[in-house]
Amino acid sequence: MNEELLKVIRQLKDEILFILTSYNMTDETHAQAAMDKINALFDKLGIVIEDVIPPIVMQSYLAGTGGAALGASLYAVTELTDNVMLDLKAAIRTAKANTNKSIIEALGEVQDELRAGVASASKKRKVTAKVVETFDKYGMTSFTTVDGKKLPLDFYSEVVTRTNMQNAENRGRVDWFEDNGKDLVIINGVTPTCRHCYAHRGVVFSISGKDKRFQPLNEERTPPYHPNCMCYVEEYDEDSLDERYVQADIERAEAFNPEEDRRPDNIKKAYDKKQASNRKNNYEKKAYARMVAKLGDDAPATLGAFKRMKRSKSKKYKELQRMMRKGDEES
Ligand SMILES: [Zn+2]
Ligand SMILES: [Zn+2]
Repeated sequence: MNEELLKVIRQLKDEILFILTSYNMTDETHAQAAMDKINALFDKLGIVIEDVIPPIVMQSYLAGTGGAALGASLYAVTELTDNVMLDLKAAIRTAKANTNKSIIEALGEVQDELRAGVASASKKRKVTAKVVETFDKYGMTSFTTVDGKKLPLDFYSEVVTRTNMQNAENRGRVDWFEDNGKDLVIINGVTPTCRHCYAHRGVVFSISGKDKRFQPLNEERTPPYHPNCMCYVEEYDEDSLDERYVQADIERAEAFNPEEDRRPDNIKKAYDKKQASNRKNNYEKKAYARMVAKLGDDAPATLGAFKRMKRSKSKKYKELQRMMRKGDEES
């Protein structure tokens, strides 16, 4: 389902590129028509997500309740859906504004050239290349992080949707526990993990807050704790456990402090390594996308082939690098 949304967004980018390359951007009327068409595509995307998102949220929530529709379900699903939708619609609006801005700026930069003399074919090509390049760099960006990184719409939407699916599933679980008279939950997840998630792992919380041996599960303590967090709540079945274990969990709950990094060194190291590998992967994905955009069929057929080539610094890779640079000089 998430894939479907990504496909729609990627298609949008292709459609925009097609419009930018097929309209004569040196002509003001044509350029305006192209932009109107592009803006209509963004508006359509806003409508498409209204079809795509609600079933995704519903499915995730029901995965949490084990398929059961509860008294709280309708309200929860509506609220969760509204939240994702607000996020995505804001992202689409930003991408739309940035696309408009990038096209206008690119056209502005080639203004002098446009004014001088007739629009020759080579001039048109140059203008098109400029507009496409600027759009490619800034157009589809939808979100600026606190450290100034611009996130593309597809990437941002993927993270928002994935995190909200996790959120909906956890919400479903908690609602199901409440409905079935189960008050205690324990936080679980994958390793290695960040310091914040680690602080919550294995900690027992009381959903109602009435069990004073544990701390109440408020919104802040319910996973996900950050974008892409895959932590989840599980039932804490006290009756099935030895008393000594329960006592240890009570002490653990007392010592709960999300501000402190209590990870052992090996987990810290493994987590940092995983983050570095994620960054490398993302970097390579982008480099490959740039190569496909520029070299078309001359680029390696798959991302995997590209990575192998790049990591082994093969002759073929160096040749492709040369072709990429050559393309830069010409435009
Ligand atoms: Zn985390
Ligand atoms: Zn987490």
